[in-house]
Amino acid sequence: MQEKTTLTGQNAISVHAGTSQVNPAQGVNTPVYPSAAFGYLDTRENVYPRYYNTPNQQVVVEKLCQLEHAEAGLLTSSGMSAISTALMGLLKQGDHVLFQQDLYGGTFYFIEQEFPRMGIAYDFVDIHNPETMGQYLQPNTRLLYLETPSNPLLQITDIRLMVEWAKSHQLLTLIDNTFASPICQNPIDLGVDVVMHSGTKYLGGHSDLIFGVILTSHALMAPIRKVAVNLGGNINAQTCALIERSLKTLALRVRRQSENAGYIAAALHGHPLVRAVYYPGLPSHPGHAIAKVQMHHFGGMLSFEPNVEGYPAIERMMRKLQLIIPALSLGGVETLVCSPAKTSHIKLTPEARKQMGVSDELVRMSVGIEEPELLVEDILQALSE
Ligand SMILES: *Cc1c(COP(=O)(O)O)cnc(C)c1O
Repeated sequence: MQEKTTLTGQNAISVHAGTSQVNPAQGVNTPVYPSAAFGYLDTRENVYPRYYNTPNQQVVVEKLCQLEHAEAGLLTSSGMSAISTALMGLLKQGDHVLFQQDLYGGTFYFIEQEFPRMGIAYDFVDIHNPETMGQYLQPNTRLLYLETPSNPLLQITDIRLMVEWAKSHQLLTLIDNTFASPICQNPIDLGVDVVMHSGTKYLGGHSDLIFGVILTSHALMAPIRKVAVNLGGNINAQTCALIERSLKTLALRVRRQSENAGYIAAALHGHPLVRAVYYPGLPSHPGHAIAKVQMHHFGGMLSFEPNVEGYPAIERMMRKLQLIIPALSLGGVETLVCSPAKTSHIKLTPEARKQMGVSDELVRMSVGIEEPELLVEDILQALSE
């Protein structure tokens, strides 16, 4: 890859960082190198897709490192691959880990099912009551794992406070930054050691790719990369080229999605057809003050509770939507809604859901890039009798 001067500006980085014009025809896009076999006689290191060092992998990693202010990155086959690989790379048998309570379901199932057989112990801590966290510390506690904004209530973790606490106890901090994307939040600037994304969401942005990324320092990437090579969660050159194309519009898309979410949150907040709106950009949101400090934009995710009773009314509303699509996943250019009680949180008992604040009427919304007034209109027509 040719050397580029350090770029500033999220759009300039999205478009230019890493992208290589080194090709005979001077095409402006990085050539796709679909090879699984690379010559080795004149190279410094052996190149092979599962070593995570092919040209198309490196281009994407360079963009993501610059966007997330990281020294080193690793592109993996899914968000869960990034999360499991990072945890396995940094932990060993006999270690103990602290996890933030409100975690992505897949992460929760990974630790519940796989940690016992690896001999790794863990506790869930209430990061909203830091004074209760000390009681979970053990001599073998290695790291603190965070996720903010959280799913589905968009709760905000005070990243700086958690990093300070972790550092004072010699713990590493890891964060799942999927909901914010690098455009809204850069945890490494706040002292976090390792950032992971499900690229399937905002980074891909068109609901047609599945990948993940780990971003950290050179020092911490060394043990993670070793495990990654053994696990083999790499992706091929064609997918890398699609990710590179997606990333060029990342800043454009996510800023528009954040603006749209802010518009919708304001329109629904206090509306007679809606009894609650959860969006960190609303001054009434309990995490608003912290979000304002640690986020550049409040993001494209919001949740709300229409003024109805019971899930059937929610399903009726979803079936009446004309522009918004009831579907799983998030982060794409199209606006999606889902019912957490019937999807991400369906395995929990109704009592457990209630305790977490996930009611049968809660609707989670991944806001797309459409005209926001059309989105509000669609929600209100679907809610009116
Ligand atoms: C989707 C998601 C993941 C898992 O990502 P996959 O690409 O589906 O493996 C992890 N964390 C969060 C917050 C997510 O939304």
